[in-house]
This record gives sequence, C-alpha cells and structure tokens, in this order.
Amino acid sequence: MTELSKRLQTIASFVRPGSRIADVGTDHGFLPIYLIEQEIASHGIAMDVRKGPLSRAQEHIAEAGLEEKIETRLGNGLEKLIPGEADTVIIAGMGGPLMLDILRAGSHASGDVERFVLSPQSDWRGFRLGLRELGLQIVREEMICEDGKYYVIMEAVHDVSTRVEEESELRFGRLLLEEKHPVLLEYLLWQTDILTGILEKLCDGEKPEAERRREQIRQELNFVEAALEQIRKR
Ligand code: SAM
Repeated sequence: MTELSKRLQTIASFVRPGSRIADVGTDHGFLPIYLIEQEIASHGIAMDVRKGPLSRAQEHIAEAGLEEKIETRLGNGLEKLIPGEADTVIIAGMGGPLMLDILRAGSHASGDVERFVLSPQSDWRGFRLGLRELGLQIVREEMICEDGKYYVIMEAVHDVSTRVEEESELRFGRLLLEEKHPVLLEYLLWQTDILTGILEKLCDGEKPEAERRREQIRQELNFVEAALEQIRKR
C-alpha cells in the first residue's frame, strides 16, 4: 500500500468516496494510486506535461497493478481531459499563478467538474482572487505545516454568488480565519517574527529603495496583525 506525506494525505482527505478524479501534474502518481488503493476514487486520470514524471507515474501504477483503473495522459494542464470524464480535479504542488493559468485554459472541461481540490504553493492571495474571477468559491480550506513549510489545501466549487472577500480573507482564507485555524495562527505568528526581523535589518538604510521596502514590509505586517486581531477577538 502506498504511504503518503502529510501534505498529500490531507489533499486525499478532500476527495469524496466514489469520485472520478483527474490529477493534473501528477509527477510520481502517488495520489491517484493511493485514492484507488483506498477505494476512495473509482477511476483516475493521471496527467503531466512532462514525459519523465509521467513515465515515473506509469511505472508506479504498473507496480501497484492499477493500469485498469488509472489512465495516464501527457498534456498541458487540462487540455487532455474530455468534458464529463472527471467529477473531481486535483491540482497540487505548483505555484498559484501556474495553477490559475491551467484553470483558465481548461474551461472546456472544467464546467463539468463538480469540485476542485487545489493546493497552490505560492501567491495565495492572487490565487484566491483568481478563483473568484473564475467563478469558483472556496467551500473548505485546510492549512498544514510539514517539514517547516506551510501549505493550504482548498476545495472549490462553481459559484454564482457575487460575494467579495475582504483583503484579509484573500490573504489568509475566509474559512481559516472564521475557524481560528490553529495552523493559521501559528503561520501568522511566524510571519510576524519574519517581517519584524526584516524591518529591524532595514532600519538603518537611508536610500529611497530601503524606505520603499520598509513601507512595503510595514503594510504586510499590518495585514498580519489585523488578521491576528480578527482571530483573537472572534
Ligand atoms: N501534484 C504532485 C504533488 O503535489 O506532489 C506533484 C507536484 S510536482 C512539484 C509538479 C508537477 O507538475 C511536475 O511533475 C510537473 O511536470 C507538472 N506540471 C507543471 N506544469 C504543468 C502543466 N502545465 N500541466 C501539467 N503538469 C504540469
């Protein structure tokens, strides 16, 4: 049986029993293999844009004897997904801007997808904003820390509402804030230390660039402090 890291395990926990999944950027293929082995997904499509990772996934799928249940496809993002083939699309382990590009370019197939399980590794604010622009709403969000690195995992569904998130919700996640998520609290305290440290180091510089950077860091610190206050007072 395949064992997953805490991050992949958390992503797997977002997938509903009986799902037909497509894993975009599958790399090693461990996630679809695990989901089929655990009888969480009934069918899987493992996709990657690069031949090397895809053949690695193919080897692992063959070793697990799951060629009948997991198809592999070489392609960019969702381009090789036929509408209606998957009810759940998973995209994880890539930067937020790349994941948004994949979602935007894959609109031909994504209309038929019921839910997206997404774990962007950068620019969470821009990613949440991009999801809203794509008409996707985050209905569940989790945050974990593994090996000193923070990860967010989101479930998003098609949405017709016009709700506009506040700045702190875009930056730190509305659901995580509402839940007073303990890992978010840890992350905010960690960010406070980092930003305060940067500010102290920048304090002596008199050049205009140093002042601009100080201002930028102060602003970021203000957002972090406001989020901490929001969590503490609720
Ligand atoms: N999803 C796995 C995870 O979270 O552990 C693997 C993440 S791995 C860091 C990123 C994978 O995405 C690589 O195998 C890479 O080839 C693939 N990838 C990058 N851009 C892609 C794209 N536009 N379409 C499909 N796969 C892509």
